Amino acid sequence: MALTPMMKQYMEVKEKYADYILFFRLGDFYEMFFDDAKTAARELELVLTGRDCGLEERAPMCGIPYHAASSYVGRLINKGYKIAICEQLEDPALAKGIVKRGIIKLITPGTYTDSGFLEENKNNYIMCLYIDKNNNSALCFADVSTGEFSCTDTPFNLSIILDEISKYSPSEILVQKNMDLSTLNEIREFFNGSFTELDEDYFSGNTEKILEGQFENFNLKEYTPETIKCCGSLLKYIHETQKVNFSHINELQHYNVVDYLTIDSNSRRNLEITESLREGKKKGSLLWVIDKTNTAMGGRQLRRWLEQPLMDRNRIIERLDAVEELSGDISFQEDLRESLKNIYDIERLVGKISSKSVNARELNFLKNSIEKIPDIKSILSHFKSKLLKNMYENLDELKDIYSLIDNSILTEPSLSLKEGNLIKRGYDSKIDELREIKIHGKDWIADLEHREREFTKIKSLKIGYNKVFGYYIEVTKSNLNLVPEGRYIRKQTLSNAERYITPELKEMEDKILGAEDELVSLEYSVFLKIRDAIEKQVHRMQISAGIIAQIDCLSSLAKVAVENNYCKPEITVSNKIMIEDGRHPVVEKMIPSGDFISNDTYMDTSENQLLLITGPNMAGKSTYMRQVALIVIMAQIGCFVPAKSASISICDKIFTRIGASDDLASGKSTFMVEMWEVSNILKNATNRSLVLLDEVGRGTSTYDGLSIAWSVIEYICKNSKLKSKTLFATHYHELTSLEGKIEGVKNYCVSVKKVDNSIVFLRKIIKGGADESYGIEVAKLAGLPEGVLKRAREILKNLENGKAIVHLKDKEQHIKNPNDSENSKKLKKDENIKLNRQLGFSDVEKESLVKEIKNIDILNMTPIDGFNKLYDIIKRAKSISSDS
Ligand code: ATP
Repeated sequence: MALTPMMKQYMEVKEKYADYILFFRLGDFYEMFFDDAKTAARELELVLTGRDCGLEERAPMCGIPYHAASSYVGRLINKGYKIAICEQLEDPALAKGIVKRGIIKLITPGTYTDSGFLEENKNNYIMCLYIDKNNNSALCFADVSTGEFSCTDTPFNLSIILDEISKYSPSEILVQKNMDLSTLNEIREFFNGSFTELDEDYFSGNTEKILEGQFENFNLKEYTPETIKCCGSLLKYIHETQKVNFSHINELQHYNVVDYLTIDSNSRRNLEITESLREGKKKGSLLWVIDKTNTAMGGRQLRRWLEQPLMDRNRIIERLDAVEELSGDISFQEDLRESLKNIYDIERLVGKISSKSVNARELNFLKNSIEKIPDIKSILSHFKSKLLKNMYENLDELKDIYSLIDNSILTEPSLSLKEGNLIKRGYDSKIDELREIKIHGKDWIADLEHREREFTKIKSLKIGYNKVFGYYIEVTKSNLNLVPEGRYIRKQTLSNAERYITPELKEMEDKILGAEDELVSLEYSVFLKIRDAIEKQVHRMQISAGIIAQIDCLSSLAKVAVENNYCKPEITVSNKIMIEDGRHPVVEKMIPSGDFISNDTYMDTSENQLLLITGPNMAGKSTYMRQVALIVIMAQIGCFVPAKSASISICDKIFTRIGASDDLASGKSTFMVEMWEVSNILKNATNRSLVLLDEVGRGTSTYDGLSIAWSVIEYICKNSKLKSKTLFATHYHELTSLEGKIEGVKNYCVSVKKVDNSIVFLRKIIKGGADESYGIEVAKLAGLPEGVLKRAREILKNLENGKAIVHLKDKEQHIKNPNDSENSKKLKKDENIKLNRQLGFSDVEKESLVKEIKNIDILNMTPIDGFNKLYDIIKRAKSISSDS
């Protein structure tokens, strides 16, 4: 058996687009076959049927009406699939044999532009990564819906690449197929969007030409060879999938990773900058608090600002000055926000103009948006700060585009471009003339109907129209005897009426229909000319859209500053962070207004380099540490901060090691992840970085954990390459004795008040170490059963009084269960390590000293080495005894 010709055609197309779901046009439907049909039926909840395909078994099939395709495409794309649209390329009525079909568009998650399905306030990026043989790498990102295209190059560094991925969160990544496998796997593990591997050949070839063709004044010499390969290949991919040459992708923006505050992907998540940790939603994030933008463009811009805080002091100050000026004049600010409310997504409308998919209604949206620009400009004229003045000067009112649309497009045009009803009277004389004929013809027909009724005295006589017979005179059967002989030509007999025509009616019909057809195609071609004329101004519209987006962001920041009582931070070069009465911007919004307790912060790179924060669980240690990081981030995007006053020196990187996260999927335990994160921090932090370490070491045994925590503190404070400003929260109270021993360490604790058997959290950060852990009291607040609490108090008392652990209930349990030899061994070991008293700092040192003495290999030592070792041991033993 052989495939039917149609199925053969299907197979030929499918072979070339194996990893796409093929939408195969058959009449008014897009049909999917075989595995594609099964996938689509499952994902879109469609009925799976079958179709004879020439083989023994019917081909699984499902279909969707072509006019409803966009919603199905959107749903599949959002689930990460790629779709190939295969259209009929000739009129089936005129086709000889099988209808010619071909791919007209490939839709992929990263090149998808349907604004109905894209998130309004979020860019949809596609990313390309290229690494050459010498380990030089380049990255580029494009948003096809807005035309943004940016690139960066750096010696290969996986963590930088992962940070950039987490910053842009693309929905699709292009890479070389032959990339080093471990790198590929790391990226795949990190990124769960659509992944496209391309042959090495794809990256070589005519990438320079592609770039020169796309970007005006493109200068090859300004870019590294790997950047050219990377950007050229991404453009090639966009052209190949979209089959359109986009004019709105017209600027290649090069950036350096180091120009922006580095926030690694963990910290982005932990600090809940754009989405909450638990639910992955905007609500509960910093973006949620500061985003009061009124346009989609502003919303996207603010997200980008937050994803890449600035390092350039002048630019930060410019933004802060603008926010200050806007927040100082409520009435201008409100007028501005009112005008912004009426502005559509010009960036994405421009994208539609450029991809030639804009309709007449959308041009009116553009016009209505442009109409508001003069109001915005006039408000801007009142401001004096540099940024707002610049915006005023550069904001193009696009008056010519407004007039063109206003003069040409009807106020309520058709949605479809091929049904006429698009162009205003007075714009094109030929269109007016054809419309006259059409209207005149219709009047003439109404007049004829009236005349014939009078003449024949048949009151129910009417003139109708259908597509098959055109215009006709209809007389019901009961009135047929009144029709004068020879007056009409019979055309059609119905069960209760006869239909007639006359030569003059047909003549008028030709005129009307001819005019109608001509009008529809003329309106279409005039519309295309208008669209093309507007397309030539794409760049000007993008500049205005960019300025509007920025104004929207600044006015949002100003509104938030006033509403939340934020202050303007001073941006310094002193390498100090000073915050008076700082608050956590998100937590303060989540609890009843006024309940948040503010706290001060003072950090520098000498005396107050590492703030060691102790205090009970739930006291507010993490909140305090996060608040400092968020205030720094806010300051560096040019936002006022939740504090009475703040003086912030620019940070280069923010690192966090917060919370217990494990990565079991990649085979890493909680402790491994913790250590991996700490190691990353120690390798990459500088003296301009801000480091947040929350309970480092808690993932392992007390001794190991405490030793690691202690050693990390030493490393951060003593290593001249680091000296990072650090907030270190811990439950190891023993570490507080490091204050005064290691330069830079300062003890702080979160105050609590003990009332009977319970505690009250005061949330105030005060100098000094915490006296107690209050773990049991906090457990009580969490609702642990009274029996467990009672027993815990009992055990704690025993431990504190130095009673042996053998009294523990666990021991009784083990005696009852003698077979459990592993456990009983462990218990013995536990007894040995004297859990019967609170761990002392000197215990750790003693134990390490004993271990070291045990391991001395005396036979392989020179006398002088032996003497030195002995000297060292004595010195350490003395220091331990003087401590304890
Ligand atoms: P753990 O050691 O168990 O991690 P913690 O000391 O880090 O606890 P947080 O998680 O920071 O405690 O705070 C617990 C809760 O206390 C927060 O969710 C918040 O609701 C509240 N809280 C923290 N700080 C403040 C504050 N300054 N003012 C008011 N409420 C606060």
